[in-house]
Amino acid sequence: MSHTCNSLLLTCIDFRFNEAIRDWAKEQGLIKDFDLVSLAGAQKNFLDEDTKSVALKQLEISSRLHGIKTVLLVAHQDCGAYGGSKAFASWDEEKAKYAEDLEKAESLIKERFSILAVRKLILTFDANMNVELKEILKP
Ligand SMILES: [Zn+2]
Repeated sequence: MSHTCNSLLLTCIDFRFNEAIRDWAKEQGLIKDFDLVSLAGAQKNFLDEDTKSVALKQLEISSRLHGIKTVLLVAHQDCGAYGGSKAFASWDEEKAKYAEDLEKAESLIKERFSILAVRKLILTFDANMNVELKEILKP
């Protein structure tokens, strides 16, 4: 039986955001239409030589078997794979690092899979764990 879906969603493993990311995907009309990959540090995996092949392999399989058109990369605030928020002097610095790595991951993905569109998102949360996902749009 042939089965296809539109997207691959790459998130961090962080359990704190599973539900919020699923809710967001539902709001976006993506539910039941995406392959889900969770790797600690999400986008960071494309940039580390140790994990790059693992991340690319998931895209290759998803593309070949399910014909995905879009890759959604979700970075998140306080990511342990980056040392958490405490590793940065400010939220602006932290956010800039995620944005930079998302950009690098997008370039690598497009280099290998020119047919795939890439959407880059950063998840933030407040003290009450109210979560927000914002897409980084091209200027
Ligand atoms: Zn994380």
